[in-house]
Amino acid sequence: MIYPYELESGKNYPVIDDFTINHCETQGNGIYVERRFKKGEMVARMTGITVPYILQHTLQITPHLHLYDPHFSGLLLHSCDPLVCLDMNKLEIWALQDIQKGEALTMDYASTEDILFRQFPCACGAINCRRWVTGRKESINDSGRKYLRDLERKCG
Ligand SMILES: [Zn+2]
Repeated sequence: MIYPYELESGKNYPVIDDFTINHCETQGNGIYVERRFKKGEMVARMTGITVPYILQHTLQITPHLHLYDPHFSGLLLHSCDPLVCLDMNKLEIWALQDIQKGEALTMDYASTEDILFRQFPCACGAINCRRWVTGRKESINDSGRKYLRDLERKCG
């Protein structure tokens, strides 16, 4: 088990055989899969502590309730063309695409978050990359506007 809690077995909570959790900044934070997942397959069930505020690694359940899960789902990386989506009612993670062994799990942060803990530049490489990531209910902040302006200038 990846979670350090007593959890009901057979519920699809993540196990160490299926995932490598990397907290290391130099090798890239994230959750790397140790086996293939097919599109449409449940990747894992998540759990954690609910808090009434946004932290760096929380995921929004409702605008006033956020899941704090530093062991698993809080380590999902962002992509504008993500590999997984989250069902924040059932606390389930589902594969949106086929996922190959060794890939890092990615989600679109704007799919769950109204407001991000912090907006950030994105270079995920997706054709539809937004270049600057915000929550779904907030607009691009001053840093983002400057970043995108500079990017446009560089790209001519
Ligand atoms: Zn992107």
